[in-house]
Amino acid sequence: MTVPFLPFALPEIGEEEIAEVVDTLRSGWVTTGPKAKRFEADFANFLGDPDLHCIAVNSATAGLHLALEALGIGPGDEVITTTHTFTATAEVVRYLGADVKLVDIDPATLNIDPALVEEAITSATRAIIPVHYGGLAADMRALHELADECDLAIVEDAAHALPSTFEGRLIGTLDSAATVFSFYANKTITTGEGGMLVTRDAKLAQRAKVMRLHGMSRDAFDRFTATVPSWYYEVIAPGFKYNLTDIAAALGLHQLKKAHAFQQRRAAIAEHYNREFAEWPVITAPVAPVGQSHAWHLYPLRLKPEAGVARDRFIERLYEAGIGCSVHYIPLHQQPYWRDRYRLNAASFPHSQHAYEQMLSLPIYTRMSDADVQRVIDAVRAALA
Ligand SMILES: *Cc1c(COP(=O)(O)O)cnc(C)c1O
Repeated sequence: MTVPFLPFALPEIGEEEIAEVVDTLRSGWVTTGPKAKRFEADFANFLGDPDLHCIAVNSATAGLHLALEALGIGPGDEVITTTHTFTATAEVVRYLGADVKLVDIDPATLNIDPALVEEAITSATRAIIPVHYGGLAADMRALHELADECDLAIVEDAAHALPSTFEGRLIGTLDSAATVFSFYANKTITTGEGGMLVTRDAKLAQRAKVMRLHGMSRDAFDRFTATVPSWYYEVIAPGFKYNLTDIAAALGLHQLKKAHAFQQRRAAIAEHYNREFAEWPVITAPVAPVGQSHAWHLYPLRLKPEAGVARDRFIERLYEAGIGCSVHYIPLHQQPYWRDRYRLNAASFPHSQHAYEQMLSLPIYTRMSDADVQRVIDAVRAALA
């Protein structure tokens, strides 16, 4: 008997989510409406801070774009981010005609190195986009100190970081200009596609809401559900089409309720991996400092030279054993667009480059059974042999 292939990632969608989507489909309102509004309110409650504005969008990429647009970032400006991320983190800067300064990571955490951020700051720098890699919070204390000193905005790419904490506070509640979460299919909670822009800044929130829907002064739900004639609206800017549908929000309402339980399951899998791998020729995933919560979106494993097997061959062996895995990330300095635009080379990013060459991401998701986790461990052991 052959065992079924264990995919790298799978969403966990329950009957509650399915019933809520069906309810939306039967309701007569399928685009942005009451459920998206409720999802935003629930999200603020989840973060435990009534002063937060939560703005549901159809992707984290859209949310990052809206945040930078609302900050007024444009041509001539520079935004600093990590090379060790997905291209979405950086591409939004280019949407606005501004330029990206990539910096290397701290090899111990795989997060952006604040000392290198400091070196990269010029008179054109306007913002920093830290990424909480894999769900482990970046050094937000150092980054906020730098930002305060140099009058820079921080927009957190929190695509991996629901729920993560930094010094006891949930990511999303720190004093950044904005924080953006992703609900893409493989993220820690999912709406299929979706994201949430979170900010304390009422003006930023107002601008992002208007730009989320064509630059219109009133959204469709407000207009169509009013009981007095309300066809009038004004277009105040050439906005975007970034609103989250109620079909997607229906999923989010129930996924959010499960976010802590999901996190606990992923953390248990990570602990199991770290325990098993402790004595093997690998570098286990970085863990959070005591008292800090790690969302465990990713489990990055690094092969030491003593492993005697190259990363690519190792991944092939895992696939031969029926285990899906991935690599997070091919650093941006290696990608043709970023490399060529800024004439980058790997020598300028030794820690990211070295990590990339050694690393792979193992499956870590709530639908994995204990037997699935054991299968991954056994396959890793066999692939190292
Ligand atoms: C997934 C991801 C994004 C983009 O999220 P979308 O919701 O797909 O737009 C951005 N940054 C990082 C680090 C991601 O992993």
